[in-house]
Amino acid sequence: MAAQGILYLVATPIGNLADVSFRAIETLKQADWIACEDTRHSLPLLHHYGIDRPLLTLHEHNETACLDSMLGRLQAGESIALISDAGTPLINDPGFPLVRAAIAAGIRVIPIPGPCALMTALSASGLPTHRFSFEGFPPRKSTARVSLLASLKNETRTLIFYESSHRVRDFLGDLADVFPGERPVVIARELTKRFETLARTTAGEAPALLDSNPDMRKGEFVIVVAGQPEGGTNETRTREMQRILGLLLAECSLKSAVRLTVQITGAGKDEVYREALRLKAVNHQTDGG
Ligand code: SAM
Repeated sequence: MAAQGILYLVATPIGNLADVSFRAIETLKQADWIACEDTRHSLPLLHHYGIDRPLLTLHEHNETACLDSMLGRLQAGESIALISDAGTPLINDPGFPLVRAAIAAGIRVIPIPGPCALMTALSASGLPTHRFSFEGFPPRKSTARVSLLASLKNETRTLIFYESSHRVRDFLGDLADVFPGERPVVIARELTKRFETLARTTAGEAPALLDSNPDMRKGEFVIVVAGQPEGGTNETRTREMQRILGLLLAECSLKSAVRLTVQITGAGKDEVYREALRLKAVNHQTDGG
């Protein structure tokens, strides 16, 4: 019996053709077959790297229908290198049924890592990277999108979305409606390409950023949204700071109350001082002063 073939998952560039690994090129050059989404898209890319191997197509409309023939080739000892139109296969791209079936059939699956838009955006976003949730493409209809966003509003992990130029403005509009206005948002656009932009803004200000600059609505987008701060929303933390400050003001001088509140809550000294003056003024009025 012939030894089983290998299924390679090969990441290709998300824009800049120089972003491809030596190993990716070597793997594509020696594969018996290259499976791609669209030959019209992949042929020029492969020719650019001097790769000339027979192609198979695997796209969202045939990925179940072509399973048996692809598994047959792998079981007969042939190797298949799966690529997608851009980036890492299976990440919002076809291939999941094939990988699952190959694993079930005992076929070796070897990933050849490389570009991926979500990791590229996250790494440069300046938002926390230690815990994140990749949400893929949000629903196209506003009602479904708003309900997804409402379910994610209290998520503490950094959130990452893919979006197209057709829907990015509507998505950011819904985000501004559902999320607190001050929540940090990074609009990562045209990554690795000529007009690469990483716009660091907030949920409240993001729609205006696109409205004021038509170029900001063009291209491919990754939207990175900061998670809700650990330890509650800004509102709950402000309320807690006000509560502690109120108690301390009743017992000690304004200066000591401010110092202790800053130490206890970690809030900024200026914010606490302003709040102390406001509370003093309110108390003064209610005391009839
Ligand atoms: N497999 C790809 C990956 O590894 O990132 C993702 C494929 S998905 C069909 C295409 C989406 O990825 C685009 O609509 C956009 O949201 C995002 N994307 C891909 N390339 C991008 C780029 N250069 N800049 C920003 N976003 C990009």
